[in-house]
Amino acid sequence: MKLDLRPLLAGERLLDIDYELTVDTDGEDTADFLYGVSFPSPMKVKGDITNTAGYMRMRLDATIDYHTMCARCLKALDGSFTFSLEKTVAPKEVLSDLDEDKLDDYAIIEDGFLDIDEHLLMELETEFPLRFLCREDCKGLCQKCGKDLNEGECDCPKKEIDPRLAPLQRLLDEMNNKK
Ligand SMILES: [Zn+2]
Ligand SMILES: [Zn+2]
Repeated sequence: MKLDLRPLLAGERLLDIDYELTVDTDGEDTADFLYGVSFPSPMKVKGDITNTAGYMRMRLDATIDYHTMCARCLKALDGSFTFSLEKTVAPKEVLSDLDEDKLDDYAIIEDGFLDIDEHLLMELETEFPLRFLCREDCKGLCQKCGKDLNEGECDCPKKEIDPRLAPLQRLLDEMNNKK
């Protein structure tokens, strides 16, 4: 959403923010920054921008429901993710002398308006967990027979790996650790 900050720039002291932001998902209903996650409903955003003698500060709280799966056993998981965001708000002209890397701390007003969606999406992308587990000690699926090992051991041999397949096994282990 583009917020009209002209009243604040003219001396108003408070702007309340309360809206919903739909997070775009790609064709497969998956957030494009994260494989296997979808957001069934819009992000709920609440907060305000305060103006203290020309110093503007934005504080936002956001909540979004997600649908994903356990990284080990692939069980479906639903939950709700909450984060908050704080930035100093300033007009572009004021920030023109600032170093590029310091600009991250700011939300920039352009021609009296501030687009807060990009800040929220960037924060979501940064803060959202890379993977979820159904429980801390989820045992996952057997890589051979696919059995859910949380429900008990399977009959596959555990230790012996054909030496010719060892490199493949290492690769699989690495991939699993990266998830
Ligand atoms: Zn699991
Ligand atoms: Zn098995």
